[in-house]
Amino acid sequence: METYKKIKEIKKRIQFEKNKRRTIGFVPTMGYLHDGHISLIRASKKRSDVTVVSIFVNPTQFGPSEDFSQYPRDINRDKTILEREKVDLLFSPSVEEMYFEDYKTYVEVTEYQDKLCGKSRKGHFRGVATIVLKLFHIITPDIAFFGQKDAQQALVIKKMVKDLNLDIKIEVLPIVREKDGLALSSRNTYLNEEERVSAVVLYNSLLKAKELIKKGVRNCSEVISEMEKIILSSPHTRIDYIEIVNDKLEPLEEINHNFLIALAVYIGKTRLIDNMMVKKKGRFFKFII
Ligand code: AMP
Repeated sequence: METYKKIKEIKKRIQFEKNKRRTIGFVPTMGYLHDGHISLIRASKKRSDVTVVSIFVNPTQFGPSEDFSQYPRDINRDKTILEREKVDLLFSPSVEEMYFEDYKTYVEVTEYQDKLCGKSRKGHFRGVATIVLKLFHIITPDIAFFGQKDAQQALVIKKMVKDLNLDIKIEVLPIVREKDGLALSSRNTYLNEEERVSAVVLYNSLLKAKELIKKGVRNCSEVISEMEKIILSSPHTRIDYIEIVNDKLEPLEEINHNFLIALAVYIGKTRLIDNMMVKKKGRFFKFII
């Protein structure tokens, strides 16, 4: 695997591949890789000739009181994983390389950025959209791979790609989970033993929602209040939000067509997110969890 830190150099290297008419698959990450990231990398290896992974902990998507400085980083461990997965190119720029002095340009996906996680993480999706667009310009991928784990992020990126007429296919892959159902996340490393046990309530509350909907419950408040009960019955939990929304992230009152159940919960000081997508197939619902 070749590692690049400079924009100019990776651009040149990618142009070389493009001249050979090779397709570029791209997996943007913040590193501290786990099996969720690896599922995206494997999909890219299958679907494209050259797989590029970026590792960049993006300061503009963290609020002033958030965990930018504590965010787990281990580039050597990550490189070992990427080598094992036979990734072709790694792009791991410095903050100064991406946000040079006097940086001024930001991308906003209005409305989408203010809902769900955007309410408590002001400016987060502006930072996400900006860095992803910058990376798209640098890497110029044919396909880019994202995880359903960050469902709102995937919708923001898809909307940006559509609105800005980018010729990039966005693939969204299923959530990879621990055996007990906790969605893999680099932030799970913040949890102590007791908190780790409690953290499974996000998944369990989604399973409860699935059970209720299968039984015929259609009222969103009823589903949400049952999910709240499950979460609050475990220690160290504080709910940021639980919402049932349509594909524009607008809240629903009644469960009808396709929808997303998304939640963010603090386990101790760690804020975790999870979600379940539900698609209506005739009279039945298909639960993607
Ligand atoms: P991050 O490094 O947390 O910014 O994540 C990089 C990419 O990996 C994003 O597209 C995430 O949605 C995706 N991802 C993170 N966790 C998971 C997971 N548990 N399953 C699938 N994809 C994931």
